[in-house]
This record gives sequence, C-alpha cells and structure tokens, in this order.
Amino acid sequence: MSYNLQVTIDGDSGFCFGVVYAIDMAEEILAEQGYLYCLGDIVHNDEEVERLKAKGLRIISHEELPSLENEKVLIRAHGEAPETYKIALEKNITLIDASCPVVLKLQNRIKNSSDDKEQILIFGKHGHAEVIGLQGQTNNTALVFQDLAELDQADLPKTFTLYSQTTKSTEKFYQIKEELLNRGYEIKANDTICRQVSNRDKELRSFAEKFDKIIFVSGTKSSNGKVLYNVCKEKNPSTHFVSNADQIEADWFVPGDSVGICGATSTPLWLMEQVRERILTF
Ligand code: SF4
Repeated sequence: MSYNLQVTIDGDSGFCFGVVYAIDMAEEILAEQGYLYCLGDIVHNDEEVERLKAKGLRIISHEELPSLENEKVLIRAHGEAPETYKIALEKNITLIDASCPVVLKLQNRIKNSSDDKEQILIFGKHGHAEVIGLQGQTNNTALVFQDLAELDQADLPKTFTLYSQTTKSTEKFYQIKEELLNRGYEIKANDTICRQVSNRDKELRSFAEKFDKIIFVSGTKSSNGKVLYNVCKEKNPSTHFVSNADQIEADWFVPGDSVGICGATSTPLWLMEQVRERILTF
C-alpha cells in the first residue's frame, strides 16, 4: 500500500546566517589544508558534524586546547570566553573566529554592563557554550539561571540587569521579566534573543498549522531545536521530533496526509531532504 503523502519542506527552516558563516569558513580552510581543529562541535547537529569530520574537521575540547601549538583553531558561532583568546596567544594558536556577530554584540553589551558594575542575570542554559562565553565577559560574576524556580533560593540584589542567551524562548523571557517585576525587583531587561530564532518562532506557528503531520528535524543538543519543536507541538499535536531519517516510523501517518518538515537553526537542508526521501518511500 502506498500512503500517497504530500510532503513539504519549510523554506524558512535550516541554518541561520551565523551557522552558514562558520561552516563556510571551515570548509574553505578544509579545502586548503585538509584538516582543521574546531573548539567544540561546530554545530549542534551530529549528522552535520560527521559530514565535516569526514572532510578533516577535528573537534577538540577546551581541556585539549592548551596541548596544541602553532595550529589554526576555529571558534564556532557560539563565541568564546576571554580565557580562550588568552590561551591561544600563549600557544601561538591562530584563531579562526567564526563567532556570530549577534553573539559578539551581546558579549560586548554584557561586558559594558559588567564594567559599569551592574549586577547581571543571564537567562540561559547551564554549561551551554554561548552562556560560558557570555559569563566570561563578567569574570564569571553573572548569575545564570534556566528557570524561575532556580532564583527562589538565590540571594538577588534589589536592582539588576537581565540578559538572555540568544536562542531562548521569547515568550518565556517576557514571562520571567513580568514575574520578577511582580516580585518587586528593579530590572533593566534586555531582550537579546536572536531574531533568527524569534522570527522563526512566529513563522513556524503558521507553518505547523497547515499540515496534518509535522516532522521536526534537529539534534538533541540544540537549544533552539527544543524551543522550536515545542512551538510546533503546541500548534500541531501531531508533531514528531527526529534527528535523522531512520527514526521516522510509517505508523505516524495515514494515507493522504499532508506532512510538513521543518527544523532548527542548526539543521542542515540536506538532512531535511533525506527525511523527505524517507517519508516518500512509505
Ligand atoms: S541563532 Fe542567531 S545568534 Fe545564534 S548563530 Fe544563528 S544568527 Fe547567530
């Protein structure tokens, strides 16, 4: 039996410009020198990382960085803390800096706030590379939290400046701001969520409603993948999360279904195309 499914890939899904920039830069150097070190996964998508590893990309951890000398190392779109630049200088490492301009701008704002002795709170994921880079701008004095419950135990100052990791949910950021204002704090709140994520949020809401089934393609480590998947799921309960084409199951569909495929800012188009090919075999 053929399911005769109508499958559409969302034209607005796929890499954001920050990720395109980092991957283009990596591929250019890989073509020239055959290998390139990259500090951490270049993108939160295992399939894309494997594709680039096959071309010579060598992923190293922060612990491994000081063991290199006289090498080129790529800094991915998430950016880095000042400590990384210091190590690179000491070890004569050439940093190929693909930090996203949006992240660099945010790092700069946080540094200025910190220099002005403001108390800083960052709404972000603990241990996330971007958040480590942001916190590094404050000599690690900023308080990072991922939900309001964490602040219940914290000894917060009366007045503080609030920032957000670029890939958090806009809705949640404003809920947090409101709640903290209700609790009587004086807050300078900066919505620093990347428009590539917040605009996609809106676009995906209307995309998800148009189809019987939604297949959301993303790596499990992607922060905005989680946010955007939840957006789809809220609008269309028949939304399934997959990281690759093999995870798709035929019994998710009924004959004649319309199926929308979409993904995170770290999901490559080629992967969404593989997912489409797989669905079309049903
Ligand atoms: S989501 Fe925004 S901030 Fe993050 S890499 Fe992409 S463009 Fe840059």
